Amino acid sequence: MTPAEYDAFAARIPKISLHLHLTGSVAPDTVVDLARKHDVPLPAGRDVYDVDAHADLDAFLRVYDTVGEVVRDADDFHRVTYETLALAARHNVLYREMFLSPPAHPHTPYPVMLDGVVRGLRDAETDHGVVCRLIVALHRERDADEGRRLVETVIEHRDEHVIGIGLDYAEVNGPPERFRDAFALAGRAGLHRTAHSESGPPANIRTLLDDLGCTRVDHGYHVVTDAAMTARCRDEGVPFTCTPVSSDIGRYSGSGDGTHRRIVEMLDAGLAVTIDSDDPPMFGTDPTHDLRVLGPALGYDPAPLRRMLGHAVDACWLDDTDRAALRARVDAALKEDPCVN
Ligand SMILES: [Zn+2]
Repeated sequence: MTPAEYDAFAARIPKISLHLHLTGSVAPDTVVDLARKHDVPLPAGRDVYDVDAHADLDAFLRVYDTVGEVVRDADDFHRVTYETLALAARHNVLYREMFLSPPAHPHTPYPVMLDGVVRGLRDAETDHGVVCRLIVALHRERDADEGRRLVETVIEHRDEHVIGIGLDYAEVNGPPERFRDAFALAGRAGLHRTAHSESGPPANIRTLLDDLGCTRVDHGYHVVTDAAMTARCRDEGVPFTCTPVSSDIGRYSGSGDGTHRRIVEMLDAGLAVTIDSDDPPMFGTDPTHDLRVLGPALGYDPAPLRRMLGHAVDACWLDDTDRAALRARVDAALKEDPCVN
């Protein structure tokens, strides 16, 4: 396939989105609008999302917190949810499991944000056909009690759209073992579990699987530095939700293509890799672009894109009936594609 053919295929292939943060997906114009609405000053002298400013994870997370400050009331949450899902539909995203990070929005009680988000995802499904479920993310830099209380809140305000919990923010400041109790509580309540592991050692992946009950790993690029852990994850079919662009900018490698090669290494090792775009406008990306940037590392071969899509169907947390329906939608779209037939 030529690079141009690969890029066109990346645009039209159906997509399943398992690693995207609502807070990180707010369009810059919307941030400016909401900052005006709530009279919140934005950093002067530069664009809201200046990708070059993301010199490290910490700098990025401060930008993230600014967005958390301006998305406040239920209508704001409705708006940002609807906007990110409408955009996803334009990239042929059929299904998304989206992180909702209550600690990033300190002015908003959980039931208020949930009300706005659920209305937003219902409206987006009606208008654009994209289905979305939610993963409530615990702030790993905060203490374990706060994490456990958030899980209690999620259980108290149980909603069918919330299907799991996750763990985000800086891994270096929040080792996963700190959240054993919170994750155990979520597990007893029947919630699925995943956690970010981007910079930590492969031993953290063992903690995620064995101590936190995670059935997915977000990022997890370091797994291939440990042959035994790689073999285990391959044998158990542990899915990895990788985000090529965001992980490359100032976080995992900073080399411009290191993460891409690492993702290919994970695929070659037989791991169940899926691709998503994490915090798209903050990193100047979108669901199509994250597939396109892998083109050179994949030799512009479309087959791995189809394989990763298959991994995502398997990795999502739908029940068997809904998963079969999603697989049928994916298969129907691929059947029409000239590059597949
Ligand atoms: Zn993430």
